[in-house]
Amino acid sequence: MISFSLQPTTAQTPPAAAATATTRSFLLPYHCAHQLSSSSFPAQQLHSGRRQGYRVRAIDAAQPYDYEAHLVNRFTQSTKLKIAIVGFGNFGQFLAKAFVRQGHIVFAHSRSNYHSIAQSVGAAFFSDLHDLCEQHPDVILICTSIISTESVLRAMPLQRLRRNTLFVDVLSVKEFPKNIFLQLLPNHFDILCTHPMFGPESGKHSWQNLPFVFDKVRIGDEESRVARVETFLDIFKKEGCTMVEMTCAEHDKYAAGSQFITHTMGRILEKLELESTPINTKGYETLLNLVENTASDSFDLYYGLFMYNKNAMEQLERLDLAFEALKKELFGHLHEVLRKQLFGKAEEGGFRRPMLAKLPKNGTPLLPPQSETVANKNN
Ligand code: NAP
Repeated sequence: MISFSLQPTTAQTPPAAAATATTRSFLLPYHCAHQLSSSSFPAQQLHSGRRQGYRVRAIDAAQPYDYEAHLVNRFTQSTKLKIAIVGFGNFGQFLAKAFVRQGHIVFAHSRSNYHSIAQSVGAAFFSDLHDLCEQHPDVILICTSIISTESVLRAMPLQRLRRNTLFVDVLSVKEFPKNIFLQLLPNHFDILCTHPMFGPESGKHSWQNLPFVFDKVRIGDEESRVARVETFLDIFKKEGCTMVEMTCAEHDKYAAGSQFITHTMGRILEKLELESTPINTKGYETLLNLVENTASDSFDLYYGLFMYNKNAMEQLERLDLAFEALKKELFGHLHEVLRKQLFGKAEEGGFRRPMLAKLPKNGTPLLPPQSETVANKNN
């Protein structure tokens, strides 16, 4: 930081300006001082302190009356982003509200017309992608269904964007968008893959302590590009999210064993058409909540979790095996009771209830439950 003042050397120095110069003090960032010295005034003026009626007088300088406002504006602009949400459905609208609340400028585009919804949340809606891109957003946020992402990205007029635009996605699977981005986006675009681990239902009251997963897939070295990513991540930090940096592959592994199982159980329970009763237990209430949380998401979303996460199939098979194993255990007990009734004490000690093994850990090859193998051997 450099601080100095330039004043006319003539006797007609306006008293007000002179007073201001001695009472107000500003610190100029180095580049501003440099700009002044190199463009507004010849070098000698600054070095010799005298020429054409100007000289360096004090370290406290009078600034234009709106100088502070100008600085504040510049600071605000550097922390506010122009975010273009592509895919303005359920989740896109939900995110937009938080972005607007934090003072960012939000543009939206979608297949359907969400003009009035966008207006009501403080965003500007563009039905034409070209028009949206010509706004030169800092961030393009892909918020479309997983299954439509590739076609949406292929249809983007990338040539209308600034060359270092940051692409972010919030898809619930991560390896798939990462690969599509790397494949379709020229090297000069930055890429950040994210997954807020909550939705309009689970995050409707607050995002406090809810996990936000991110992977900085490709970010340019320039300071401004690094800062832009941090500004974007700050939105979620400020809302209280727990920030979790991990690779897209790690995310997909964890998510298949947690999120996909959750959605699958929710959808199975939904098919049972569970109803509230006058004697709900806490556990049952949890199940009803699970149905509410998962059933409000589109089937496209659930299907995307299955189709575009290579770990999902294994989880579905494990669920199948677990259900079969559980039924066998139950029927084994039942069988034992029936045999006791039929044969009484005669068989005591002669019949052994089938011992059911636990499923192998995630990621290990799935074999039929041990009891089946034992039973087959005994046959
Ligand atoms: P979604 O059903 O996964 O996606 C709906 C969005 O996709 C809408 O904007 C829709 O546009 C667009 N879309 C669907 N088919 C399209 C097509 N053929 N061409 C162009 N656009 C198409 O529901 P969502 O809940 O809004 O989720 C959006 C994204 O956020 C998904 O990738 C999801 O995985 C992710 N996400 C969702 C949640 C959540 O809790 N909901 C949480 C985290 C992440 P129109 O509405 O204009 O038709």
